Amino acid sequence: MDLYSVCDWYDAAGLLTDDERLVLGRLRDFLDTAARPLVGDYWERGEFPYEIAQPLIDLDLMEPAELTANRTRPARGLYHGFRIFELARTDASIATFYTAQAGLFRTAIRVGASEEQRREWMPKVIDFSLKGVFCLTEPEHGSDIAGGLATTARREPGTDTWILDGAKRWIGGAFTADVLAVFARDVADGQVKAFLVPREAPGVTLEKIHRKTALRMMQNAHITLEGVRVTEADRLHDVNSFRDVAAMLRAMRSDVAWIATGIQAGAFEAALRYVTGREQFGRQLGGFQLVQEKLARMLGNLTSSLALVVRLTEQQEKGVYRDQDSALAKMQTSLLMRETVALAREVVGGNGITLDAEVARFHADAEAVYSYEGTHEINALIVGRALTGQSAFTK
Ligand SMILES: Cc1cc2nc3c(=O)[nH]c(=O)nc-3n(C[C@H](O)[C@H](O)[C@H](O)COP(=O)(O)OP(=O)(O)OC[C@H]3O[C@@H](n4cnc5c(N)ncnc54)[C@H](O)[C@@H]3O)c2cc1C
Repeated sequence: MDLYSVCDWYDAAGLLTDDERLVLGRLRDFLDTAARPLVGDYWERGEFPYEIAQPLIDLDLMEPAELTANRTRPARGLYHGFRIFELARTDASIATFYTAQAGLFRTAIRVGASEEQRREWMPKVIDFSLKGVFCLTEPEHGSDIAGGLATTARREPGTDTWILDGAKRWIGGAFTADVLAVFARDVADGQVKAFLVPREAPGVTLEKIHRKTALRMMQNAHITLEGVRVTEADRLHDVNSFRDVAAMLRAMRSDVAWIATGIQAGAFEAALRYVTGREQFGRQLGGFQLVQEKLARMLGNLTSSLALVVRLTEQQEKGVYRDQDSALAKMQTSLLMRETVALAREVVGGNGITLDAEVARFHADAEAVYSYEGTHEINALIVGRALTGQSAFTK
């Protein structure tokens, strides 16, 4: 099956197995027929097309039975990467929505839960019967969350109850989650711990963040926690300091690098379709040298990004997980993405600022991806620290 004829110039998808291609083909058919026709209108209204959420879950993409010998072993990292690529190639909000569960929440459980907790929760995470989100960022602490995290966790003396107070911001997918994975600082030892808080627990308030100009379909929440009670059984037992949170971020940044790559594919394909369809001066736009140079640059950016994420994923499959590797991939693919979506928008001219030609949506959404999961500067500082042995963060 020819999955990626134009946007995968060096045939990275050739590294996939036939079964992996079949599952990804199933996803692509669904996205083309059920999702793509909806996204422009939902984006404009700032709403998520929840009618595709359950059918998307029903595609059994997280650990597909046919790739896991009936769930006895995990699917390969490359499959997961291309699944993210495929989602983002259609729409960045849909990719972010799916990754909130399949990437962020799943990673929180995989890395943060004890063996016993993992055995209980992971199957429910994989089949989406336990939907969760990752609540780390706060209104006053984004890039400096490691040292600045201000939400508190207080153990009630003589009981197995914790009391949480604070606020979280930007939490994607929170309105449809069953539980919120909340990171809070234990007032007793000053260390960061994590708790699964039911979304409807007393003391939890969710407010939608309005007036966004990127990822408009994705519903982001501002969350307030006032005297929220959680039991010790719902604390993630393997999260005992920010070091454990950093291990989660390492895995998540790789996923975002795949999103930044998929967005480039979607924008590039939309631009290519347009310039080979419209004529000016009596010939196709795609026949002009200056337009071709932009197409070549977009393809170069996309191909470089794909090569980068494929190799990163291969390294991680071998067990090589380093902060600087995923930080470099997130930083570089996002940088290239920004140029690619701008070029795509440019070659579509005036129609490039309407939702009809698709490039406008990719162009706007790229700004959110550029900033989340570590901004450009923060990821650059992580790489810089690894290169020089010196931390240039001010604290
Ligand atoms: C759409 C969206 C979805 C998100 N989803 C989630 C989620 O599900 N869960 C979650 O926990 N978080 C989420 N986030 C939060 C995201 O991770 C943060 O926005 C990000 O970490 C940046 O923090 P900030 O926005 O507070 O920016 P700030 O930290 O205020 O940074 C502002 C600017 O200052 C720069 N800067 C900061 N410190 C330095 C420094 N030392 N040196 C140089 N420059 C610096 C930054 O690079 C940036 O350019 C989401 C964000 C968005 C936009």
